[in-house]
Amino acid sequence: MESDEVTEGGVPHQLTQRLDPHRLCMQGTYSDPIRCVALDSEIGVYSRCTIHPNRPSVCREVDASWEYGKASSQCDRARVAHGMAPLTLADWRWRDDADNDDDHPDDNGNSPSSPPNTPIAA
Ligand code: SF4
Repeated sequence: MESDEVTEGGVPHQLTQRLDPHRLCMQGTYSDPIRCVALDSEIGVYSRCTIHPNRPSVCREVDASWEYGKASSQCDRARVAHGMAPLTLADWRWRDDADNDDDHPDDNGNSPSSPPNTPIAA
């Protein structure tokens, strides 16, 4: 079990639902409409996992497309299913070294204080 009831630092147990004696799921993911209780989002505007450091392994296995340099077909399909275009490499440009705008006072070399476009990761 991955919940913090059994594994220190695991998924917050109060946000889970028991599927059977050996398996849990996140509340809201085993019902219709599916919406994980840990999701804070306005689809198409912003989204974040409120337990990101403690999210379940099934969630860790799905990277956002291009976050780590390659597309994720599962991420792409999920975005398309919700009427959004798949992410592109350009959605992560705010992580690039800011080596061409030394005239800006907030340029610290790799972490712009105001990312031009916050990526939307579904
Ligand atoms: S990554 Fe998404 S599905 Fe997984 S726990 Fe976070 S909000 Fe829920």
